Amino acid sequence: MSALLPTYARSGLSFARGEGAFLFDESGERYLDFSSGIAVTALGHAHPHLVETLKTQAEKVWHVSNLHGIPDQERLGRRLCDATFADRVSFTNSGAEAVEAAIKCARRYHFANGAPERYRLITFEGAFHGRTLATIAAGGQAKHLEGFGPPVDGFDQVTGFDIDAVKDAITGETAGILLEPIMGEGGMREVPYRFLQDLRALCDEEGILLVADEVQSGVGRTGRFYAHEWAEITPDIMASAKGLGGGFPIGACLATEAVGQTMVPGTHGSTFGGNPLAVAVGNAVLDIVLEPGFLEHVAQMGLRLKQQLAGLADEHSEIIAEVRGQGLMMGLKCKPENTKLVAALRERGMLTVPAGDNVVRLLPPLIVGEDEIDLGTRTIDAACVALKTGDAGHV
Ligand SMILES: *Cc1c(COP(=O)(O)O)cnc(C)c1O
Repeated sequence: MSALLPTYARSGLSFARGEGAFLFDESGERYLDFSSGIAVTALGHAHPHLVETLKTQAEKVWHVSNLHGIPDQERLGRRLCDATFADRVSFTNSGAEAVEAAIKCARRYHFANGAPERYRLITFEGAFHGRTLATIAAGGQAKHLEGFGPPVDGFDQVTGFDIDAVKDAITGETAGILLEPIMGEGGMREVPYRFLQDLRALCDEEGILLVADEVQSGVGRTGRFYAHEWAEITPDIMASAKGLGGGFPIGACLATEAVGQTMVPGTHGSTFGGNPLAVAVGNAVLDIVLEPGFLEHVAQMGLRLKQQLAGLADEHSEIIAEVRGQGLMMGLKCKPENTKLVAALRERGMLTVPAGDNVVRLLPPLIVGEDEIDLGTRTIDAACVALKTGDAGHV
């Protein structure tokens, strides 16, 4: 019996090492990694710049707590602000913690501005914001809430991307609107740009805050630094994590000065958040992602993948119902159970991630090349053929 809580249905694979877009198991078998540890290893495995940075920092200092200055944390915060809408950053160890910090910022802003009754956030059906008590309440999914007592109060869920439904949900207690610009776990559902623009305008009209959960869609994943940029809007608060550390755990809550200045000493904190190891690696990730031409590369690879997937969807319409997503955050809505396609791909040496709404997520590392995209497409083609003919074996 495993000593671990049985909270995961694990694949049975384990990996000895990785290199770029590939992982290798104990026997040396190679896997094309289009999962990136769920959108985390943004620069692939064992990226030389990240490896060098981590080794160098490991020999200097690992942890000092936030009771002291951490120059690399200041630097990472400054770089994130310079590259986004934000004026202030607070670092965390995970996505859920970044979303929690975002929720606290939204509530605190209204408290500090004489409206403590404004503490509720409007959220969307199918959303995913993490696994802490507040973030499962924000996500509102019954399967995540069941058995854990009364959900944390303060979230009002609406269905669909319907601006009138959002307007109807706003009350004198509403602090803001929380959403992912592309719903990741919920099935790679793209939020229409127009809807994001309408939400921004509505927030301005009502004096409430727009809170973006870019834990999955951020740090270049969609071909922009953050996905909301595609809609040419800015949020007031944003949660980031996953790709930010390239595999080292780090998250961040970003905010405008109007919001950030209300988080005075004592209102929030984290023992580990933004420690020297994490922020050294975070800075190294930004060295690459913010390099001129890098995001264009992501967008180009995303386009190549999307075009090839569209071809596969035509050819295998019995298997692929729809191609979704943006950049290197793609989804295949399946006709058979999505886990069947995930398994058929795994058997053919390719790793993907199932999502809600019967979708298979394709999350290649952002450094992926044309040959690897083409290999991925050929593997999906072979898996679809096998699923159609009922042949589960190797190609
Ligand atoms: C993964 C994810 C989270 C939670 O991040 P953790 O690091 O697992 O806590 C929150 N929001 C979104 C959109 C995510 O994809």
